[in-house]
Amino acid sequence: MLSDPHFKTYLELLLKWNKVYNLTAITDPKEVQIKHFEDSLSALPFLPKTGRILDIGTGGGFPGVPLKIARPDLEVVLLDAVRKKITFCEAAIRELGLKGIKAIHGRVEDENQIRQLGLFDVIITRATFSLPEFLTLALPYSSPTTLAIAMKGRDWKVAGFKAEENGWKLKEAFDYELSEDLGSRSLVVFSRIYQEQVSPS
Ligand code: SAH
Repeated sequence: MLSDPHFKTYLELLLKWNKVYNLTAITDPKEVQIKHFEDSLSALPFLPKTGRILDIGTGGGFPGVPLKIARPDLEVVLLDAVRKKITFCEAAIRELGLKGIKAIHGRVEDENQIRQLGLFDVIITRATFSLPEFLTLALPYSSPTTLAIAMKGRDWKVAGFKAEENGWKLKEAFDYELSEDLGSRSLVVFSRIYQEQVSPS
């Protein structure tokens, strides 16, 4: 998958723009490939064949852009609160010739703006919020069948946190290792609690 020529172009763009835009602290090309591209693609097995994905706090486009390269049929919305990150994402989308993906400048808390984008089948975030924050912020843009995916380090567990209180339930947690011993990561998947599944208190 990483042999797809899109990734070479994306790498070049990222390293070029990074000099001015501070998109990532990682500047070694091999490390970018593993820590950003390979890591982003770890979410692939958890995605539906088609559908709409919202990547909250996408930064330089992670994980949304690698996922879009790998699954061109998915519709992807990249969201970030920092204008220059979105300017970069727009340039990357253009240079990579990707269709069915857009980059939106805004804060996820701004429901009036984000709701206009419609509901999403998958809401994903990497290295951005704590789990309770993420699940609370994702809820307004989800439907009863939406999956929320948090890509985190191994330390994702939050003491005393119950996803059920935020309207979600833990579906699965997947631990994985990046290539070349570059780190241990976890991917945590939540599904919505349907109204009828909530037990009376
Ligand atoms: N997902 C990327 C970037 C992580 S850094 C990666 O894995 O490399 C966190 C990003 O979240 C930053 O780009 C920041 O601007 C964005 N962010 C933080 N709070 C946000 C909010 N409330 N709404 C939208 N984006 C936010």
